[in-house]
Amino acid sequence: MDDVIVVGGGIIGASTAYFLSKAGRKVRVFERDPTYKNASFPLSLGGFRRQFFQKENILLGKFAKEFIFQLPDLLKTKKNGKPTVSMVPNGYLLLFGPEQAQEQYEALKNHKACDAGTKNVKAEELQNFFPWINTDGLETATFTDSKIEGWIDPHMFHAALKNKAIELGASFEKKEIKRINEIKANTIVSAAGCWTNELLADIPVVPQKHTVFRVKCPKHIPEMPLTGDLPSGVYWRPEGKEYLAGSPNAKFDAPDLEPEWNDFEELVWPALANRVPAFEELKLTGGWAGYYDCNKLDNNAIVGKHPKMENVYLATGFTGRGLMQAPGIGRGLTELITTGSYQSIDLTCFSVERVLSEKKRAEPYVL
Ligand SMILES: Cc1cc2nc3c(=O)[nH]c(=O)nc-3n(C[C@H](O)[C@H](O)[C@H](O)COP(=O)(O)OP(=O)(O)OC[C@H]3O[C@@H](n4cnc5c(N)ncnc54)[C@H](O)[C@@H]3O)c2cc1C
Repeated sequence: MDDVIVVGGGIIGASTAYFLSKAGRKVRVFERDPTYKNASFPLSLGGFRRQFFQKENILLGKFAKEFIFQLPDLLKTKKNGKPTVSMVPNGYLLLFGPEQAQEQYEALKNHKACDAGTKNVKAEELQNFFPWINTDGLETATFTDSKIEGWIDPHMFHAALKNKAIELGASFEKKEIKRINEIKANTIVSAAGCWTNELLADIPVVPQKHTVFRVKCPKHIPEMPLTGDLPSGVYWRPEGKEYLAGSPNAKFDAPDLEPEWNDFEELVWPALANRVPAFEELKLTGGWAGYYDCNKLDNNAIVGKHPKMENVYLATGFTGRGLMQAPGIGRGLTELITTGSYQSIDLTCFSVERVLSEKKRAEPYVL
């Protein structure tokens, strides 16, 4: 019998394979599409942040930074002695209107308890830090400016984790699993992303289509952080000499990954031009859409052992933050599988039981 089988070779599957292999387990990863054409991770914005409401998400964001900074050492292989992920540590800036401010003041207590290193200012002071912002309608903003948040290249991150896992003895095989009980192994990990509900019918994680636009603007602001405008739901960041901007319009049951082009004129451009006057001169140069692995119960992760299946573990439902949480989740699942409990960050709050008994524990800061 196999030791460990991981279903899904995306970013969560690759990270779990790396940590389990490092712990001495023999891992086979089954991935149905090794081109990863529709998988979530290659279509993501690559952002890593610690600006969340819930403590566990803040701590996972802190670990992401630690892991990414140490990645060249941790994930170097005989073939590639210096893996990189093209990190841009420009930070995150989250903007709140009066209707979101109270919740953010609560969130800041958790930032403080977790020593997140975030800064909070009133809207009136914001232009001292970010002179390109129009603060109309804002009450407060939280940001980091000490290179502890930013973004990375998702493909390079995945490749580095996968290649290291393979060097440590894991195999990645092209194979589609139709039913979880067709696999026989000491330990089974479902890392099937937004398709988890097809494998495990009691888990409410489904594809939710999100569109990202690529735009060009004569004014280049290279130091701009990944900025989330909570009143409009629009977020953006520099991408080389251009910018990427995400639509707040999320769609369930989308028949394909065609971008929602109308969102640009109707939702995204007006919000961008309102918040950054320089963006009035934007030109749309492209775009794409990808699926969030949306946990329909509460937009929060589902991680742990399935209580009704002897040897089945799962990790899914990251709803827009699976790339940055991959290191912490891979490490946490490995601790749970190898020792029976979490040793680093306690992820018990994300248990499968919580979802099966419909106990919501919402994370409000979904971008
Ligand atoms: C537009 C967009 C922007 C995003 N921005 C960010 C961001 O800035 N930061 C961040 O942290 N996250 C971001 N995300 C979210 C992030 O991409 C996902 O949360 C993350 O990729 C989930 O990882 P995963 O490994 O679970 O799923 P995936 O990356 O989708 O991988 C799952 C894999 O499982 C395979 N699979 C599924 N079912 C089976 C089966 N039955 N048999 C075999 N293989 C199977 C699939 O083919 C797929 O390759 C974004 C997502 C999108 C779409």
